[in-house]
Amino acid sequence: MKAAVFHGPRDVRFEEIDKPVLAAGEVLLKVGACGICGSDLHTYRHGMFLQLGSPIDSGRVLGHEFSGEVVEINGDVPGVSIGDRVTTVGMGGNAEYIRISAEMATTLVPINDDISYVEAATTEPLATSLHAANLGAAADGETHVIIGAGIIGLGILQCIKAHSTAKVIVVDLSDKRLAKAEELGADQVINVRDSALTEVLSGDHLISENLLSGTTGGVDVVYDCAGMGKNASGPSVLEQALSIVRQNGKVVIVAVFEQDITLDYNIIVRKGVQVHGSWAWEMDEFIESARLIASGKIDRKPLVSHTFPLEQASEAYETQLVAEEAIKVVFTP
Ligand SMILES: [Zn+2]
Repeated sequence: MKAAVFHGPRDVRFEEIDKPVLAAGEVLLKVGACGICGSDLHTYRHGMFLQLGSPIDSGRVLGHEFSGEVVEINGDVPGVSIGDRVTTVGMGGNAEYIRISAEMATTLVPINDDISYVEAATTEPLATSLHAANLGAAADGETHVIIGAGIIGLGILQCIKAHSTAKVIVVDLSDKRLAKAEELGADQVINVRDSALTEVLSGDHLISENLLSGTTGGVDVVYDCAGMGKNASGPSVLEQALSIVRQNGKVVIVAVFEQDITLDYNIIVRKGVQVHGSWAWEMDEFIESARLIASGKIDRKPLVSHTFPLEQASEAYETQLVAEEAIKVVFTP
C-alpha cells in the first residue's frame, strides 16, 4: 500500500509498504483523509515525539488525525460494520490503510454522510482545542486571549464562540492567520510583528498596572498556543501571557517548548495565576468535537488550507512547516 514514511528530520518519503494484517478484534480503515499534526511537525523538524509514529521496517508512519471507511473486521466488533465512515485515533494514518487496535475499535466515532473525510480528519485537533477551552472555561462577559493562530488556537476560538459570548482576542505574527481568525469570529486580532502585545492591550485599556502587586494584568484567560521554538529568542509567549492575565486569572499552556525558558515565577505567585497544562483530550471531548462538526456548530472547512496525495509526502510536510502559508495540511491518499 501507499504510505508517507518518516526516515529522519526533514526526510519523509513516499513508499510502498505492506498492508497491515489484523489481529483478533481489530479493524482496517481505508484512510479517507489524514491531517499533519503539530506533533508530527515537531517530529519532522527535530525528531521529537517519535513514539507517536507507527514503526515499520523502513522507518515510521506518522499521522494520527484521520478518518476513513471500515473495509475489514477481524472477528466480531460490536457496533462496527463494513462500509462505516468513521474517525478515531491511532498511529500510522499517513498511509492508504490503517489498522485500528482492538482497544480503539470499540470507540470508532461515526461520521455523518454530509461531512467530508477531510473535515472529519480535523476532529482530533478540535478535541485538543476543546480540552484547552474547557480548562479556560469561558463565561459570558470575560475576555480571553489566544496567542498563536494555528489550527489549535483557531479551534479554541471556535470552541469558545460555540459555547459563550466571551470576547476573544487572537494574537499572531501572520496576517493570513489573523484574517482567518477574524473570519471565524475573533472580536479583535493583534499582529505582534508591528506592536508589542502589552502596548496594544493597555492602549485599549484591557490591561493596566496593578500598584499593589507591581504587576500588569486584566484579561481573564490567556492560551499559549505558541510555546517556544528551538531557535526562538527574546521573551517567551508564556512570560507575556503571565503579564497580561488578571489577578487570579488563568493561563492555559497548549503549545510545547522546544527549548527551556527562564521565567519570573514570582509573577505567578503574586498574581495567584492558575496555570494549566493542556495535553490532548478525554474521549468524551473527542465525541463532543465530532458532534460539534456534525451539527454545523463548528465549521472546520476554512481551516484546511492544503490537501496532498501521499505521493507528494515531502511537499506536504514542507508546506505545513511554512506557518505563514499553511493552517492545516491534509493527506487525501
Ligand atoms: Zn494531533
